[in-house]
Amino acid sequence: MNLVAFSIKTKGIHNFGRRLWTVFTRFGISEARTRRALHTVVNILQQYNGAPTFFIPAVVLRRHPQLIAEIADCAAEIGVHGYVHNDYRSLSEALQYKQTEQAISLFQKTQIPYQGFRNPYLGWTEASLKVFTALGFTYESNEAVLHNVIDLDCFPPLLRNGYEKSLTLFQAISCSTYTLRPHFEGPLVRIPTSIPDDEMLFDRLRINTEEVGHIWCKIMERVYDFGGIYTLNLHPERAISCKHALDTLLSYAHNQPLPVWSARLKDVAQWWKELGQFRLHITSEGPNRWRVKADCTSRAILLARHLIVEDQPTSPWYGVDVHIPSHSCIVNAAQCPCIGLSPRTSQQVVDFLHEQGYPSICCPQEDAQMYSLYLDMPEGLGITREEQIERRSMLVKQVEQLEAPFLHFGCWPDGNRAALAISGDIDSITVQDFFLRILEVNLRT
Ligand SMILES: [Zn+2]
Repeated sequence: MNLVAFSIKTKGIHNFGRRLWTVFTRFGISEARTRRALHTVVNILQQYNGAPTFFIPAVVLRRHPQLIAEIADCAAEIGVHGYVHNDYRSLSEALQYKQTEQAISLFQKTQIPYQGFRNPYLGWTEASLKVFTALGFTYESNEAVLHNVIDLDCFPPLLRNGYEKSLTLFQAISCSTYTLRPHFEGPLVRIPTSIPDDEMLFDRLRINTEEVGHIWCKIMERVYDFGGIYTLNLHPERAISCKHALDTLLSYAHNQPLPVWSARLKDVAQWWKELGQFRLHITSEGPNRWRVKADCTSRAILLARHLIVEDQPTSPWYGVDVHIPSHSCIVNAAQCPCIGLSPRTSQQVVDFLHEQGYPSICCPQEDAQMYSLYLDMPEGLGITREEQIERRSMLVKQVEQLEAPFLHFGCWPDGNRAALAISGDIDSITVQDFFLRILEVNLRT
């Protein structure tokens, strides 16, 4: 399907006509307009000690290597957004592999380092994950977590219809503590992205910039409560008109009681790998007394609840958790403050708990009472993707709501409660790029 047919199918003829008009107002014949937009995002983020992550199709990079190198030099991360701007769901695994390899080759020729992949239209498939892993990507950022913060009843059916088409197109999943965290699939880190994105808010629902700023803050508030990551998706073509909204969001995040980590997606992937290596060693020091030693990097934070830390002062954290300033301590608790696992619990569960920063010890069923939480999960975490998301979400929720002595690692580094990554897909830089997409996608599918 070509871009015109695709756009008409997903946006409707009315919206497509409108889109065509905006192409000429958002892109220029030269790179100047997009250069200004990219620097706008970089500069706003710099004021908050952050930097963005941009994804770009390899063919667009090939036409504008100097501009992208210039942006990368400003600490922006550049990731791969396909070889051309096509939907991988229409490609076989072999074709996905071939095109991803071609994209890598172009990135290497232009000497732009990359670590991550985001699919056009967030159109990932199970085969895509295999391809990204085989070709050595560190992470991908495609899973679209939906934040239900808009009252759709306030919008006319035509606009609502367009919005709902996007939800289907982006394979939206619901929001939970688990889905708002990155996770491993094999060695590949998957970092969730958030919807509605800028296109859904501006073009589908036609919400004004000021209101969009408020919506982004509402999403940030939810993400902060869940302690997850907010990956904002802002296409640079809307960056200049969104400048105020972006500033509102960053200022809101910056003013939370606990800090919010402003990060590029590659930093998030790096951190997630680091967190998975941390271990907590808990040994008995007599009745109700435990020696705790964390095997972790200096960026880790140790959190505790429903216990007394004997040898050092703690500071309040979030909810019932307190922050222990060092990585070793003596605590008083009636139970061992970690998760006991039955010997038949599957390795998948053990690995998952490590990844989430939750300490666990394998022990026989008769010792279950000695632990704050005891799990017997021989069946593991499910087979189908839906099952896996549901069981993992339930498990994380169970641990997070545990009303018993418990120690764990915070899931973000350096005392941060949540993370905020500003990302944007550079689908086109000039008007020519926009129309070349039609030709390029047709040649490739
Ligand atoms: Zn795109």
